[in-house]
Amino acid sequence: MTDQPAACPICGNPALEPKYKPFCCGRCADVDLHRWLSGVYKVETDEVPDGEDDGNP
Ligand SMILES: [Zn+2]
Repeated sequence: MTDQPAACPICGNPALEPKYKPFCCGRCADVDLHRWLSGVYKVETDEVPDGEDDGNP
């Protein structure tokens, strides 16, 4: 067991603010939210992205 604060999963800084846990600040919480909304954490889907701006320089 440690007393160290959890590290922010976005930027790695200590998540010192309880109201933003597990993030260090509202900005990082917002970043995580956008990741969810943009499908970064997508699971169990049969949809194939068009890849308009990915893999094609
Ligand atoms: Zn952060």
